[in-house]
Formats: sequence, C-alpha cells, structure tokens
Amino acid sequence: SLDSQLLVLENVSVHYGQIQALRQFNLTIQAGECVTLIGANGAGKSTTLKAISRLVNLSQGQILYQGRNIQRYRAESLVSFGLAHVPEGRRILSRLTVLDNLKLGAYCRQDWPQIKADLAQQLQFFPRLAERQHQLAGTLSGGEQQMLALARALMSRPKLLLLDEPSLGLAPVIVQEIFRILRELRQQGISLLLVEQNANLALAIADRGYVLESGELIVSGKAQDLAEDQRVKQAYLG
Ligand code: ATP
Repeated sequence: SLDSQLLVLENVSVHYGQIQALRQFNLTIQAGECVTLIGANGAGKSTTLKAISRLVNLSQGQILYQGRNIQRYRAESLVSFGLAHVPEGRRILSRLTVLDNLKLGAYCRQDWPQIKADLAQQLQFFPRLAERQHQLAGTLSGGEQQMLALARALMSRPKLLLLDEPSLGLAPVIVQEIFRILRELRQQGISLLLVEQNANLALAIADRGYVLESGELIVSGKAQDLAEDQRVKQAYLG
C-alpha cells in the first residue's frame, strides 16, 4: 500500500550536461525491504543513489521519502529524517580517528546520551573498529574503512540505508563479513537500497531487484525470480 512505501521514485531522469544518466526511472521501497540495483558500469546505479540523497538534481520526475518530496529539503535534513548514504569509495576522513569519524555520523542529532549509547553499540557491533578506535582512519585496511563508513552511517539512526558497492575491492572473507552485517541490519528493520556489481551476492540478500542498462529499467521483480531470469543470468550472473 502507499502508506507502507518508504521511498518512491516517479519518472526520475538525471542529466550530466548532455549525458542522460537515468531515464524516467520508477522504483519503490517498502518499509523493511532490501532492494538491489543491478547493472553494468555506467548503468545509472550510483546516480540513482545520488538523486535520492540530493547529491544530483533531477531533470524530470520526483522522489518521495516517507511521503515528503525530497527536493524541498537539504541533504542534511534528509539525514535527520533517517536517510543515510554510504557512497562508493567510502569517503571516510582519513586524518581523523575512527572514533571522531563515528561521532561525525551523528552530526544531525543532539540527543547526547543516546549518541553515546549508540557509539558504544557500534563499537560492540564492529569489534575491529573498537580495537582501532584511536587510530587515524587512513591507517585502516580497505575492509575496515568500509565497516567504518557503514558504522558512521548507522550513527545517524537510518531508516533507509543507501549502499554503493560495499564489496568493491574487498577480499572474499571481508565481503562475507560485510554481508553478514547487512543481514543483521535488515533484521533490525533497517531498509536497504543496495548497489552491487556482484549480482549473485546482491540477489541472495535482497527481496526485490531492478536491472538498469544505460539509465533505463530493463526488468524488475522478486530477487529470486531475477536470479532465474535468462537475460539477467546471461548478462550479470556469470
Ligand atoms: P559505476 O559502477 O561505474 O558507478 P553506475 O551504474 O553507478 O556505474 P553512474 O555512475 O550512475 O553509473 O553513471 C551513469 C552515467 O552517467 C555514465 O554514463 C557516467 O559516465 C555518467 N556520469 C556519472 N557521473 C557523471 C558526472 N559527474 N559527470 C558526467 N557524467 C557522469
């Protein structure tokens, strides 16, 4: 039903100058759902996440988050409404400590006792970060930096987490660990919009998926059905 829809993209187009990165894209996410975007390089996956978190402007259409037209709000306001983006490349602040990076994730909040409790909880949830909390973030391994980016996003108490390529460049054992954490977040009721090059991995965790090609929706459906779809298999499941 419309009420349970956390996010709605209606006819969304995005241009970078002359280049059209997204063409009249429609997508919905229900509260508690895990949805994945699949597609080759340049298909428009990152652009979709950037459009949702107000990092790029729409040239057409609209995006509703909890019924609110996101174009009426600044990116920071969206964070305080529970929308958090973990961008590709992680964007942690390498010259700050792990702890200070985590604290920055709560910049939109003012409930200090709760922030402290959440900080303790994240350190418990990510023991590797706890061990390294006083180290500069730039000294962390790739996998640890990805965990820090995730933990920092969780410090904003998101309802919807936008994840751009969380497994990119990581060793398989670390990827397993990241996906174990994502499953746990789902169980906590956090909705996920997951962009992944590894479609097998993405479809294994997602409820539904959308396949994009050159900015256009090719097919969407239940993750299980997509995993068995011939076109999807041939193009993305190797
Ligand atoms: P990737 O896995 O490479 O990030 P993607 O599916 O996320 O792929 P997007 O990054 O959304 O794809 O890019 C969609 C299209 O828009 C591509 O053709 C890309 O070259 C173009 N594009 C993306 N960002 C910009 C930009 N800042 N300026 C110009 N063109 C851009």
